[in-house]
Amino acid sequence: MNYELDLFNKLAHKLFEAEGEHPVTKPIPAGELFRQLDLTLKENPDPNFESTIENLILSTPRTATKLFFNQLFGGRNPKATLGDLLAVLLNNSMYTYKVAGPQVGVEKEILHNICNLIGYPNTSDGTFAPGGSMSNFMAMVMARDNFNETIRLKGAQGKMIVYTSAESHYSIPKNASLMGVGRDQVRFVATDAYGKMLPEALQKLIEKDIEDGNHPFFVNATAGTTVLGAFDSIEPLSEICKKHNLWLHVDGAYCGSIIFSNKYKHLVHGLELSNSFSVNAHKMMGTPLTCSIIVTRDKKHLNNSFSNDAAYLYQTDGDDYNLGKTSIQCGRRNDALKFWTLWKSVGTSGLEKIVDQQFQLAEVARNYIKDNSDYTLYSFDDSISVCFNYKNIPAQQLCTALYEHAELMVGYGTFQENEFVRLVTINSGNKDEDILNFFKILENFVEENEALFSEAIAEEKV
Ligand SMILES: *Cc1c(COP(=O)(O)O)cnc(C)c1O
Repeated sequence: MNYELDLFNKLAHKLFEAEGEHPVTKPIPAGELFRQLDLTLKENPDPNFESTIENLILSTPRTATKLFFNQLFGGRNPKATLGDLLAVLLNNSMYTYKVAGPQVGVEKEILHNICNLIGYPNTSDGTFAPGGSMSNFMAMVMARDNFNETIRLKGAQGKMIVYTSAESHYSIPKNASLMGVGRDQVRFVATDAYGKMLPEALQKLIEKDIEDGNHPFFVNATAGTTVLGAFDSIEPLSEICKKHNLWLHVDGAYCGSIIFSNKYKHLVHGLELSNSFSVNAHKMMGTPLTCSIIVTRDKKHLNNSFSNDAAYLYQTDGDDYNLGKTSIQCGRRNDALKFWTLWKSVGTSGLEKIVDQQFQLAEVARNYIKDNSDYTLYSFDDSISVCFNYKNIPAQQLCTALYEHAELMVGYGTFQENEFVRLVTINSGNKDEDILNFFKILENFVEENEALFSEAIAEEKV
């Protein structure tokens, strides 16, 4: 392993150097991939193993740099990265105490602290899921079994109805399909001008379904919608759920980490009233992918829906320490250690700073946009998604050109009838000047490539 460790160090340093010099890699067009890189697997060993790996590493998109704003993750937190590297070396599977030992405690400590921060009762517990989509899946299955405990055995009967906002994540309808509820049974509730679910609209849809003889069972609220980063108001939704006896899940995959911030946790006011809550630490907390957590008010739901007896597996220790009894997988990677090394090293107050920094960067971006008449702003305060257009240039065209010319990695989104660039200030390693630099690169690029955008710019001047 010594050779590989040395090689790892060498490659890591080469990567860091390259990231500093060229924060954005020149993309390889998909059609040329196999011609430009040697990815072939052959009968015999590759005599150029080292240089082949190096080429591969150096031509991979760089998500850790200051110019990556493309997705709801980014940056590289060194403490969390250390934890994840150690998890790879240890290679435990989290299903039993016998195999994972103290790593079970690492996971339980995180879950326990998150339940406490939310204000869930002592009965609460959670687990790590393979991602935010699967966290939502687990919430939906717990809600289903809570609604009717015979479904696990007999399969779904009748039309069971899911409610989620029109701005929520696509995993909700996908999961409805996976769990046999069916995409047609998902009601997309209208939102207000800020992208938040309208409680009155939810109430109306539920009443209509009851009238039609359908069975409402699950409401998904979003803490940080994918495009605008909007927070559904939990309290009024919770009242409606109580009245109709529906499970309320809060999908905080994107921005649920605001529970760590005294300044911003008011955005999920009433979270303790929910039945379940999920958060991706690989988004706002900046841990390496994947680090997805789902917690529920009462751990009996996790056991009811996910425990299977397996004598070959559960041979020692109590259920509380055999985490496989409440997870969706069997063998399961240790996703907890990277969050624990981060949390342990900076404390909860350090996690708060990580959250607050992202909102600070978003404010810098919004202020810049508001002060500059070449820009139009489409997003709102209290969000780390900053949505805008520049000089009337179609967002899709601008983002694609910036990518193809290896200038910036940034994506676009739509809300109602507008399409716009979506700058996500999720990399808390960035500083104010990095955000201003983003705009400078964008503006210089447009100026130097005016021909590409002349149509849009001419239109604007009319
Ligand atoms: C990212 C995201 C998800 C999906 O999480 P994955 O880990 O990518 O599966 C779900 N919901 C919301 C609101 C998200 O932003």
